[in-house]
Amino acid sequence: MPDYRVFPVWRGTGVAGGGGNGDDGGWSAAWSRCLRWEHDGPDRSRIPVFDYLAWLVLSRRVCQRGRGAVGLSADMLSIKLPQLFHSHQIPKVFREDSIISGYRRPHSSALDCVLSSFQLTNETLNIWTHFLPTWYFLWRLCALCSSMNVLSDSYTWPLLIYMLLICVYPFTSSCAHTFSSMSPESRHVCYFFDYGALSLYSLGCAISYSYYVMPDPWINTWLHQHFVPFAVGNSVFCTSLSCYSRFLELQSAKRSKALRTAAFVLPFVFDTVPLFYRLLLCCGGGTMSSSDALYSHCYHLLFAFLTCFLFTAHLPERLYPGRFDYFGHSHQLFHVSAVVGTHFQMEGVLADMLSRKAWLLAQQGAPSLLGTLGALLLGLILNLGIIGVFSAALMWTSYHSARSQR
Ligand SMILES: [Zn+2]
Repeated sequence: MPDYRVFPVWRGTGVAGGGGNGDDGGWSAAWSRCLRWEHDGPDRSRIPVFDYLAWLVLSRRVCQRGRGAVGLSADMLSIKLPQLFHSHQIPKVFREDSIISGYRRPHSSALDCVLSSFQLTNETLNIWTHFLPTWYFLWRLCALCSSMNVLSDSYTWPLLIYMLLICVYPFTSSCAHTFSSMSPESRHVCYFFDYGALSLYSLGCAISYSYYVMPDPWINTWLHQHFVPFAVGNSVFCTSLSCYSRFLELQSAKRSKALRTAAFVLPFVFDTVPLFYRLLLCCGGGTMSSSDALYSHCYHLLFAFLTCFLFTAHLPERLYPGRFDYFGHSHQLFHVSAVVGTHFQMEGVLADMLSRKAWLLAQQGAPSLLGTLGALLLGLILNLGIIGVFSAALMWTSYHSARSQR
């Protein structure tokens, strides 16, 4: 006789008392039937899905009985969630294009912001679509660290820096979205850090591309030797321009968006020029034609273009304002597309790194500490300095505007 069990791992006590009617017996009897649900009746044609449906009904009754047993009323169990706001109820600085409802209270506390990530608001999926991938990339980083000799093999250092930065940028973004409703100033500072992390990510891409992805004919050329220093300059430009764009947001949203887009497109195009060369002009020869790597790089570029499109187009919410406030608006899709693109980029970099190792080490030598960790530290210090300057300018402006209004 087939033995269908909902939870086959453990047989609960009091099973014998359960005959299939959820009203028989007390709370414990019903609970035991939840733990084990045997197919022992005459109806042999019954399939497990009916058992499952019966289990759902039974669990509901068990929950109701359990609630009664400890004396809790439905009102006591219902948790009152903080009120959400419409766009016309909050200051302009907190509003998002074509998002009408689901805004958190402006001037929330830090604890409110953290708790709001468990409430459905228009920011919830923005938070989680970057928080969860952080753990995925961190897991990949840990797996690589455990499988490679990262301390003594300097060939792995560019990869480590890249992997570290693809963990940092989604985490910073997730934090920025979480704490962006504390105050107008904190919102700006949160996104300054978000832009800084993205800018450092572009530097990490340049470092890894310089050592693993560069086309064969470009190795040891002037561009190759200056690729990482240029990328440090690009990250300074990117962070400065994107932070500056926030100051223009209230006066001219279009100009602000155009500047911010340009700030991120420039380092992306610079980093990707070697890859374009490989894909468009010479993917058929030398060590650079590893098909695994090229497929991954192609998918990465596809998602990179989709990411840029979603960031600038504000679709689909621009077509149906208010309909995608909670699920499916462009910023959530932008996050998902960016993360999927980063996954393919990581696979492409890894494939190139492993398949071209012997040839690259023979041609360009091992990566130096200055060219890898040195470049990262310089980029980090410069970016933190820029964020500090813009934050100070913001506080200064807010302080003087508050004083003039008194
Ligand atoms: Zn975001």
